[in-house]
Amino acid sequence: MALIVQKFGGSSLAGPERLLRAARRIAEPWQNGDAVIAVLSARGDTTDRLLQDALAISRDPPKRETDLLLSVGEQISVAHMAMQLHELGFPAEALTGWQAGVRTDRSFGDARVHHVTGGRIRRALADGRIVLVTGFQGISESGEITTLGRGGSDTTAVALAAYLEADACHIYTDVDGVYTADPRELPEARKLEAVSYDDMLEMAEQGAKVLHSRCVELAREHSLSFEVRSSFTDTPGTRVGGEEARRFCGVAIRRGIRLPMTDQPMARVSVIGAACGEEETAIQVLRALSGLRLRQIARRPRAISAYVPEGEAVEAARALHYLFLS
Ligand code: ASP
Ligand code: MG
Repeated sequence: MALIVQKFGGSSLAGPERLLRAARRIAEPWQNGDAVIAVLSARGDTTDRLLQDALAISRDPPKRETDLLLSVGEQISVAHMAMQLHELGFPAEALTGWQAGVRTDRSFGDARVHHVTGGRIRRALADGRIVLVTGFQGISESGEITTLGRGGSDTTAVALAAYLEADACHIYTDVDGVYTADPRELPEARKLEAVSYDDMLEMAEQGAKVLHSRCVELAREHSLSFEVRSSFTDTPGTRVGGEEARRFCGVAIRRGIRLPMTDQPMARVSVIGAACGEEETAIQVLRALSGLRLRQIARRPRAISAYVPEGEAVEAARALHYLFLS
């Protein structure tokens, strides 16, 4: 019997049909005899709405109570999912972060997971139940409810998988993996079969919005590799970790950057990969972007970034993608 941790993002749980679809995915390995823990985010845009409500009352709401409020979104999800599974005839138990033993420090809004005790999870699994755990939230030593930062449910899933020594960890989301670029901006982007922790962290740093960075750091610390998959299709996803870094793995755009001496909004367009440390790569980047209004170039061991006016960002990204990734 394998222990499988699954995580479902907010968009994968948005309406009744999606809830049902996710419930079937959760139940499938359980029906095959595996133990399943599912970590859920708040449904749809619940977290944004809760936050808006808070900001309508106070422009600077107290952090402790903001966490108390935001943690409600995930509690709705696990309660609804337990009801949906019950309706399908599967035994499930929904747990909050504190019931699951997700121990964090006390930095409200950006708490770090220290460890997971997980006693209740193990008991429920031993009783043959599917366990549903709220993502994004934990409990501090002094018993305060904390949240892990926006997108933090990914981190909850990896933390549970690491501390409970799961055999597999699957992050289900609305994209079917990690791409060489954002496919909404560059349709020629390709799905990566696998990506190393370091490449994934650098992609996130440069603006790729796939995973909560801390979940990748935590996975690296525990040498836990995991998979990003689509909750809507059955195509294979992207494995994160457990492999060598790539020469080049992607391009990313970050908009809305202000540079001194320009009043124009700028974008940072980056190519990411181990070969970015080579002198030759920088020369190639400069050459590829020679037709654009390039303002500045910045190098890191795993990325080379060019600053261009926002209107030229996609063109720059496309040139770099064509050169290094096609
Ligand atoms: N619900 C939280 C958010 O919207 C956490 C998550 O989705 O991972 O940021
Ligand atoms: Mg997310």
